[in-house]
Amino acid sequence: MTTDLRYDAAHPVDDRYTPPPDRELDAFAAVLGDGRLSGGAPILAEYEQALATWFRVTRAIAVSSGSAALHAALVAVGVGPDDEVLVPATAPIATAMPILTCHATPVIVDTVPGSLALDPQDIARKLTSRTRAALTLPMWGYPADDTAAAILAAAGVPIIEDACQAHGTRVRGRYAGTQHRIGCFSTHDRKLLPTGEGGFILTNDEELADRIDYYTHLDHLRGDAHGVNYKLAAPLAMIGHRRLGQLNDQLTARRRNAARLLSVLPPDGRLRELGYGSDDAPNYYALVLTSAPQHATGIAEALTAAGLPLDSVRFGYGPLYRRPLFATYATPCPNAQQLTTTTFHLPVHPAMTDQTLGWVADRIRNLAEGQRS
Ligand SMILES: *Cc1c(COP(=O)(O)O)cnc(C)c1O
Repeated sequence: MTTDLRYDAAHPVDDRYTPPPDRELDAFAAVLGDGRLSGGAPILAEYEQALATWFRVTRAIAVSSGSAALHAALVAVGVGPDDEVLVPATAPIATAMPILTCHATPVIVDTVPGSLALDPQDIARKLTSRTRAALTLPMWGYPADDTAAAILAAAGVPIIEDACQAHGTRVRGRYAGTQHRIGCFSTHDRKLLPTGEGGFILTNDEELADRIDYYTHLDHLRGDAHGVNYKLAAPLAMIGHRRLGQLNDQLTARRRNAARLLSVLPPDGRLRELGYGSDDAPNYYALVLTSAPQHATGIAEALTAAGLPLDSVRFGYGPLYRRPLFATYATPCPNAQQLTTTTFHLPVHPAMTDQTLGWVADRIRNLAEGQRS
């Protein structure tokens, strides 16, 4: 057996992906030459129009981060102090932090077994007259199905999608982030449309879009209403505008790489893909595999030793209430707890070489067959 030292634990498979250059320097020179570098520059309107077209919505508003997008969305649907916002227990800190920014109360909801979707039964227990919004989260770009939409609609609670990891994820023929009232995206370096820092908000509701636009642009200095400065600077909008043109190719490559890894898993083995609907398509922010609880610890240890650590190892990922900041909002969420300890995340980005993919395929095939990796 030959050992390739590039892939041992000290040299993990690089999960970072930078899209290839696409004349950004020329575009940058044009932005610099124009001299207008703020969030009021003409490139912003072009970028927002391109985003709206790509995602097939009427309005896109570029902002300075995904966190800013979530905060502005919560404010736009009226979330304030004393209000409650439903959030899945599988959410990472960044999803829930903006609820605290609004001085509102996070209400942590369990998920449907084996899924990222909010559990309607747990929602029924937790809805109150103060429930002002619900966050849903296609984590790792996996579609979270809509089982909770009916009960939330009946209660008049708007859904805000945190699609920060889900650029290009398809859910029942539409893009994640365009399913409900508002979709929020991040363009942080680790996301599929990276601009360094940045984000955007999508909606088909013109009145809501105007409100978000004024709020995130200091009320455009009218002095009528409170606003914040969440504008995205022109050079970052330019990067996003250029890279949006490559997003489809990136999605194709990620789906192809994921299919290759999935093709080596035996049908009755210890690993299978996290489930999603037959009309849906993940964007493969990461390929997510799951196992039965009794195999999870061994698989997690073997993957980490192989330089393919889980999010729980790298980012301390786990149920939201395990973080001290959110501990006071803890409620029993057994399904979410199980999901976070039985999911494994693998990079499938376009820069992975054939050799690296083959190596990862060997590791997961062995683990699925019950070997030590
Ligand atoms: C990245 C991310 C955020 C925050 O986005 P920033 O641009 O870093 O502020 C929020 N939610 C999720 C699910 C994310 O992945």
